[in-house]
Amino acid sequence: MVSYENYKLVQITVGNKQEAIDLEKKFPESNETKLFLPAIVERPGSYLFSESSFEKLKQTKFRYNVLNENFQRTLDEEEQVTRMQNVYGRRILHTFPTHAAINEYIEELALQNQSLASVEVIGYSYENREMKIIKIGRGHKEGTKPIIWIDAGIHAREWATPVTALFIISSLLEDYSTDPITKALVDKYDWYILPSANPDGYEYTRVGDRLWRKTRSLQVGNCIGADPNRNWDFHWNEVGASYNPCSDTYAGPKAFSEKETSAMSNYIFRHKNLIKVYLTIHSYSQMILTPYGHSYFLPPNFREIMAKAKIMENAFYKTHGKRFRSGPPPYLLYPVGGGSYDWAHQVCGIPYAFAFELRPDQNSRNGFVLPVNQIQATGEETWAAVKSLAQSLE
Ligand SMILES: [Zn+2]
Repeated sequence: MVSYENYKLVQITVGNKQEAIDLEKKFPESNETKLFLPAIVERPGSYLFSESSFEKLKQTKFRYNVLNENFQRTLDEEEQVTRMQNVYGRRILHTFPTHAAINEYIEELALQNQSLASVEVIGYSYENREMKIIKIGRGHKEGTKPIIWIDAGIHAREWATPVTALFIISSLLEDYSTDPITKALVDKYDWYILPSANPDGYEYTRVGDRLWRKTRSLQVGNCIGADPNRNWDFHWNEVGASYNPCSDTYAGPKAFSEKETSAMSNYIFRHKNLIKVYLTIHSYSQMILTPYGHSYFLPPNFREIMAKAKIMENAFYKTHGKRFRSGPPPYLLYPVGGGSYDWAHQVCGIPYAFAFELRPDQNSRNGFVLPVNQIQATGEETWAAVKSLAQSLE
């Protein structure tokens, strides 16, 4: 495993745009400097610095505070609690399951709930892992009911997200017979949920580098992987992505170069007329991102989109008191092209498209390493938000 011994997670505040640009120039992303959250004027950034990078930072005038003195300790703690093997059944919802365990779990659920659920392979990853969705709906006759699509785990290191998708899946099935609201939502909609959208990257975070983000395809210069959320064919590689194949935000050699995004987009495109909601789950920093990601233009139904986002903000807050902010990335953060939900909204015409950034918040000392004892609360509040969204649809 790649070691982050003595790497410090540092929060940096920039006073103006120029300072943000200087910071990016002085500390480009590398093995010595990992980017968790880029600093912008409106929000401090979080960077993981090696000892030598941190020494360099101390020589500068950037304002910073250290959030975590040794990130490897945080990774060690996570490994301690997730090492337990052979977690089956519902207990899977209290850990960070492997890709194989995720697939096994949804197969099991489909078997136990044959009148409500089935599993379909929508494609294969670069390393030939099965990408399975579970389809949940009463008497799911294909092509008749409106669809709610959810995917998670497109960024490999965002471990909070696949297990949260499993929490939503298990809630839909388990609450069906006890909760009239859930029953109505399963009767009315077909739920297509892909809990592990980047299987190779996700597996690599267990055996190679816990902070890996991309796919695992071979690129020029022996670099590995493209950013699967910069790889979609809508304003691809125009903004917020990198041409450098070794970069964490490499857009890929062309749009849909990655087998994973290609499989997902083909499947979504085939069902686009029925899909009412496209939701992609990321972490972290507690946000509900809305179209567009690529530019400051607003979609024609922006008011309706924001009304839904506010409903979800409330649901997140009411469940465990967590504040989420919502809006388009160019306004909250910075523009990003080639993202999945822009494509879903604009190319497929799916009216409601969102990306969640789950816990923890931007000041976290853990970043992508969500403490295991927060998995359940994360699942509960995210399910509450999704449920409130589905209930609010016409
Ligand atoms: Zn992400």
